[in-house]
Amino acid sequence: MLRIECPCCGPRDHDEFRYGGDASLVRPAHDDPVPEAWYRYVYVRKNPVGPHREFWQHVTGCRQWLVVERDTRTHLIASVSFARKSPA
Ligand SMILES: [Zn+2]
Repeated sequence: MLRIECPCCGPRDHDEFRYGGDASLVRPAHDDPVPEAWYRYVYVRKNPVGPHREFWQHVTGCRQWLVVERDTRTHLIASVSFARKSPA
């Protein structure tokens, strides 16, 4: 069972959250003329081993979007912060 320490609600089971994807992706500029950049942003995903930054939303709690730094091998969570305060 994965437990996520929500900054608003405290520690909660991961069942209360929805995974929102890779938080390390950088969205291309709106007018980026290179289709390959958009293709990679929308469809291509890595399968990282080790530390990974992920978006999670606390859907049955405060509904905040969070950035969770989680090790994909051990599921240990190094940090949790609000997504709105996360650097791009
Ligand atoms: Zn919460």
